[in-house]
Amino acid sequence: MTLHISPIHAFQDNYIWCLYSGKHGVVVDPGDAKPVLAFFKEHGLTLSDILLTHHHWDHTNGLPELVAAFSNVKVWGPHSDKIHGIDCVLGEGDMVSLPSIACDFSVIEVPGHTLDHIAYYGSAGLFCGDTLFSAGCGRLFEGSPAQMEHSLAKLRALPPATNVFCTHEYTLANLKFATTVEPLNTDLLEYQRWAIAQREQHKPTLPSTLAKELAVNPFLRCQQPPVMTAVNQHWNTQQAGEHSVFAGLRRWKDQF
Ligand SMILES: [Zn+2]
Repeated sequence: MTLHISPIHAFQDNYIWCLYSGKHGVVVDPGDAKPVLAFFKEHGLTLSDILLTHHHWDHTNGLPELVAAFSNVKVWGPHSDKIHGIDCVLGEGDMVSLPSIACDFSVIEVPGHTLDHIAYYGSAGLFCGDTLFSAGCGRLFEGSPAQMEHSLAKLRALPPATNVFCTHEYTLANLKFATTVEPLNTDLLEYQRWAIAQREQHKPTLPSTLAKELAVNPFLRCQQPPVMTAVNQHWNTQQAGEHSVFAGLRRWKDQF
C-alpha cells in the first residue's frame, strides 16, 4: 500500500507530520491532539504509533489525549526525564519498526536545540524536529554550538535525495537571514522566490530535500568561503574553523 505523508497544521507554524497507509497512521511530534484527531477522523485512520523528537511542549502536549483516544498506541522517543509516557526509549543507531505502515527508521542523536533531541531517518525521509529547518537550524536552548554543529554534520552526511520534514514553517524568515549572509547565492535567491510564491498560496514549503538544504542553508555551508567571509565581516573576526564559523553564524541569527 502507498505511504502518504501529510502535514497537520498546529498552533501558529507547527507541522505535525502524519505518515499513513491504508487505515493506519503514525504522527511525529503531536504538540496538539485536536488537529490530529480531526485529520484521523476525516481520513478514517487509526493511530498506531507516535514518534517524538524532543521534550518541548509544542511537540509533546497532545500525547495523553491521543493515547487515550486510540487503543494500543506505541510511543517512541528519546532518553529524557522531561517526557512522560514513552514506551520505547531510543538512542543512537536504534531501529524503529512500524509494521502498521510498513516503514522503518533508524535513530540519530542530534543534541543542540535540546540535549534529548533525536531524529528519525528512513526511506520515508528525515524527521528532524527542531534541529534542521529549511534554510535554518534550531536555536540552542540546551546544547553548545559545537554539539549542534556535530549533529548537523551527521544529517549533512545523509543521501542528498533525502526528503527533510521539519516541524516548523520558518522558511521565509530563515531565507531573509540566509540571503543577508549569502546575497549572491543564485540557488538561494531562486529558492526564496519559490518559497514566497508557495506561502502566498498558503502552501507549505516543506518537505525540503537535503540537496536543496546543502545549496541554500547557511548552517550547512559553514565551510563555504562566502559564508565564512560574511560571518567574519559581521563580527569583525578572522575565524577559519568550521565550528567557530557555525557559532558566529548562530549568534548572528539569534540577534537578527
Ligand atoms: Zn523545540
